[in-house]
Amino acid sequence: MYMEKALHKISVRALSERIYRSGSLLGAGYGGVSGLDGTRMHQRVFRDIKNEYGEDCVFSEYSLGTTLEYELFTIQISGRADCIIEDSNTSSVNIIEIKTHNRVAEKVESLILPTHEAQVKIYAHLYYLSHAEAEDITITLRYVSFLNYQFLEKSRIFTRDEASEFFDNTMALYLNEATRISNYENARNESIAAMKFPYTVVRSGQKDFMKAVLSSLKHKETLIAEAPTGIGKTISTLYPSIKWLPSAEGGKIFYATAKLATREVADKALIDMRNRGLVIKSIQLAPKEQMCTAKEEFCDSRFCPFADGYYSRLNAALEELHGLDAIYPEDIRRVAEKHRICAHELQLDASNFCDVIICDYNHIFHPRIRLQRYFAVNEFCHTILIDEAHNMISRSRDMFSATLSRSTLLTALPVLSTISQKTEKYSHQLVDYFTLLDYAFEKDSAGLNMAEPAIKESEVVIGEDFRATRTVPKNLYQLLWALCFHIANILADLEDREKRRILTEFYFEARFFLTIIELYFDNAYIIEVTRSGACSNGQYDISITLDCLDASDKLANILKDNHNAVFFSATMSPAQYYRSMIVGKETTFSRMIQLPSPFPPENLQVLILKDIKTTYQERNFTCDMIARTILRMISGHKENFMVFFPSFAYMEMIYSRLSKATQQDPDIELMIQTQGMGAEDKKHYLDRFNRHGDKTLLGLAVLGGHFGEGIDLVGDRLKGAFIVGVGLPQISKEREILSQYFQNKFGDGFSFAYKFPGWEKVLQAAGRVIRDENDKGFIVLMDERYSREDYRLLWPEHWRVAEYLSDEAEIFWDDL
Ligand code: SF4
Repeated sequence: MYMEKALHKISVRALSERIYRSGSLLGAGYGGVSGLDGTRMHQRVFRDIKNEYGEDCVFSEYSLGTTLEYELFTIQISGRADCIIEDSNTSSVNIIEIKTHNRVAEKVESLILPTHEAQVKIYAHLYYLSHAEAEDITITLRYVSFLNYQFLEKSRIFTRDEASEFFDNTMALYLNEATRISNYENARNESIAAMKFPYTVVRSGQKDFMKAVLSSLKHKETLIAEAPTGIGKTISTLYPSIKWLPSAEGGKIFYATAKLATREVADKALIDMRNRGLVIKSIQLAPKEQMCTAKEEFCDSRFCPFADGYYSRLNAALEELHGLDAIYPEDIRRVAEKHRICAHELQLDASNFCDVIICDYNHIFHPRIRLQRYFAVNEFCHTILIDEAHNMISRSRDMFSATLSRSTLLTALPVLSTISQKTEKYSHQLVDYFTLLDYAFEKDSAGLNMAEPAIKESEVVIGEDFRATRTVPKNLYQLLWALCFHIANILADLEDREKRRILTEFYFEARFFLTIIELYFDNAYIIEVTRSGACSNGQYDISITLDCLDASDKLANILKDNHNAVFFSATMSPAQYYRSMIVGKETTFSRMIQLPSPFPPENLQVLILKDIKTTYQERNFTCDMIARTILRMISGHKENFMVFFPSFAYMEMIYSRLSKATQQDPDIELMIQTQGMGAEDKKHYLDRFNRHGDKTLLGLAVLGGHFGEGIDLVGDRLKGAFIVGVGLPQISKEREILSQYFQNKFGDGFSFAYKFPGWEKVLQAAGRVIRDENDKGFIVLMDERYSREDYRLLWPEHWRVAEYLSDEAEIFWDDL
């Protein structure tokens, strides 16, 4: 049988790292410069080089590549050289590789790594291949300090013969690995071609969903899909993505979830496909803090034994992991412990040879946590599958927000005051800055301008212990920048462990705050200053937050033209809200689909009690009526029910009524969610639903809380849910600012800031009732607003709604 040769793609950077990385994990000298800071530096350096050599002969991101044919496979090597100077007057060529670091080095030799040298040498070879006339080109490594923008560089002539020899040697060293990868990819592609859908039944809507996913992958679109419970979301996204994999040209599949628990579903889908013959390697990534076994250490070989000599022991560890198809955190921990290397770094290195990476949203989008090796440079177009994507709105806002607090500063102050005169000076100026903010609260004035003269009083929103402005705090920025500059200068050489730990934590917090201002701050941000509790010196704690109100532009920048993405959840309506909040208003690269529920609509009774008022002012008057109605409707039915509320305070009001009314009734059991419930208590609460038929169980919980979504009470475990109110978030200054922002952006601030987030929680809670095709149950929506026209427009299509006065409402028990 004729088989196409496998095509294996690798970037110049990855090839250099794979072959020439050696010794220990990098310390803070490089580690402190994030990919994004590095990109910003590159742009600045490139501007400087253009000024030095002239516009016309300097080229950045110069694409180079070659294709090598072997007996069983083809290898395509490609990359973009940072900068190439082609001087036509002298016929000279200089290939410059730019590296950033955060040290003040005196000798360039102390900065050069073998991987950097390899990269520029391979670029030289690729350049020679495409320029037959080129001779004796110069290769340069230029190291730019993030601290003072000064650079050190090393250049040399690298002849055609030298370049060719270096490249041949590199490929000889890589050939074994390339052979292994190609063998795997051949087997994988064959198995994908032969793979059938792993389940006997394709559920209603599932086919449409899979077709839409495949079409989006082909057209490089971002798909936003509302896929109701029961449709089989995970397999509907993973199956077509895996079918697409042979065409993805090196791209991987990232299956990202908001919670660890939901990863098991993705894992199960992969196991089911493997049981049908699929050959595929996958890995589940765990957060760094869960993998780090040297909790008190730093990622620096002088302090952490698992960083020391990491690369010299890495290959043996990887060799063991190559034998596994599915790699779990426990495999990584076991192998890392055996070889005494860092488990966190090992899981990242193992992900290189896996096609499916099951991870958290942060691994893809968070500016500080995202996997640099896949998302800092867009070498390949990856497929990103975002499960429970309704969470992305709040999660993405958090990812792009940053906070600096007085308590964080005071924790580091004893160290900052003693390690250098400069850090002492700037940290005390920062202490004074917080004192001025505190003074503004004391005086009950908008006086942020005492600390930031550029901020006018009229531009400050004032609330109790709350101030907000849109103006960038320039004084704070300059002060913090100067402090970080001097910390970074010291950090790499600081030997005292405790001081180093304290300083490192402060530095990364502060540096992230600066990065948000430098790279992301725009009119989607607001600066909030809040006062709360007390910090170590007995004063109020003051926090300054760069609050990202809407991260859609940032997400769109990561995805558009770079990666395929599918955002999916059971609650993605109204569609326009989710699309606007996930990828912005632009519709050229994104599309939406809404799939019908696969469950018989008659299995769910939806009742609206149109005479119940739950606004804040009405609550005292309607509490008794709500408690009475709930008890009347379930009276005599020994089933399990839940009642959801918009807040703990409201829940406790109704709980006291329910409790009083049922205290003499041994057949009714009440349970209530409490604030700060531990894992054991949550488990105990949920476990109670496993019992059924002995009593009438009423579990009270808050909307959007632990029991409001993500729990699966199938069959008799849950018969019905009462939802009190429409789930609106509490009114606050912060919400009002959000509302104003959306009013300006979309012309409907209330809906975007209050109504839609509330509706999302209602739908999530309602979604707890029917979990499979045999489930039958009811939802009682207890608020007159559900009957209003604007809410009717939001009702899911599969709902069969009956509206009642609360005294008349009846559940059709015979149908359940
Ligand atoms: S074990 Fe922990 S401290 Fe050591 S390198 Fe890994 S993550 Fe860093």
